[in-house]
Amino acid sequence: MTSGKLYRAGLLGENISNSLSPYLHKILADNKGINLDYGIYDGIKNINDYVSEVRNGGYVGFNVTKPYKESFFDFVDEVDSSARRIGAVNVLALKNNKVIAYNTDFIGIYQALKRNGVEIKGKAIVVLGAGGAARSAVYAGAKYGASKIVIVNRTYENAKKISCDMESFSESSFECFTYDDFRRNNIYDDFILINATSVGMRGFLEESILDKELIKGASFFMDMIYSPFETESIKFANKNGLKNINGVDMLFFQGIRTFEIWTGMEFSAKEEDAAYKDFRDFCNKR
Ligand code: NAP
Repeated sequence: MTSGKLYRAGLLGENISNSLSPYLHKILADNKGINLDYGIYDGIKNINDYVSEVRNGGYVGFNVTKPYKESFFDFVDEVDSSARRIGAVNVLALKNNKVIAYNTDFIGIYQALKRNGVEIKGKAIVVLGAGGAARSAVYAGAKYGASKIVIVNRTYENAKKISCDMESFSESSFECFTYDDFRRNNIYDDFILINATSVGMRGFLEESILDKELIKGASFFMDMIYSPFETESIKFANKNGLKNINGVDMLFFQGIRTFEIWTGMEFSAKEEDAAYKDFRDFCNKR
């Protein structure tokens, strides 16, 4: 049974026609018994128009993805502290008549790992990449108590910039490497390895970012990519006996937390479990 009110939301980005977010939000809305119309807005013209839609209640909010994650800072009334520290926004919503920008990607990473029995607290994490997704992963490490955060990136300066931005409020220790330097200096043990690069993404570079030297000492691998579900990196991890997950769970958990912000409807643990199973079933059938 769905209630009468129609909630409207959407995704702002580019080349997003294959996004799973409309399906995810439909599952969440069905589980809560509400009507939610979730649109895809591929290529936006005037940023202010979307902020106004949230302000005047036409939309409960938007998800924001590449290349607009940094575009909204100067247009909203407030940026929450996590989004400011990460430097990227993936959610717009109205709270107390103010349009607020949030980041739920970092929560998605933390909860995806937790759901799969992996705790960040006290562990070393090695993040491959230094773009927006990597910033969320590093922030998750810093916020949830990683003992060490290692950022490995093709362009060393981009990795260094993240550690400079995040070191000041974190108790974790930071190190940055290029790939070859990391291979030479990989002395770490029992670490969580996260691919936050676009390598492996459908239509980009459908290769494995992993090799034997990179995974040496890793106890768990998370590939943030979910298209395809089974990247070459996931295949490599499977072949080498490294436990792993793809980006589906991260997508789910950032999505459910976003839905709660938009609607004010919280999911109990049991309800979250049911929605999670529905979304996994949907993904398994694709
Ligand atoms: P981005 O800002 O464009 O960053 C891409 C990163 O990949 C950069 O650090 C770049 O290195 C690196 N890279 C690109 N080509 C490379 C190559 N050939 N070799 C080595 N490194 C390379 O992208 P993003 O927004 O952070 O997204 C990254 C990935 O996360 C995407 O695949 C996206 O689908 C995924 N993601 C998933 C979720 C989810 O919910 N599951 C959410 C957000 C993002 P340089 O710095 O050297 O250029």
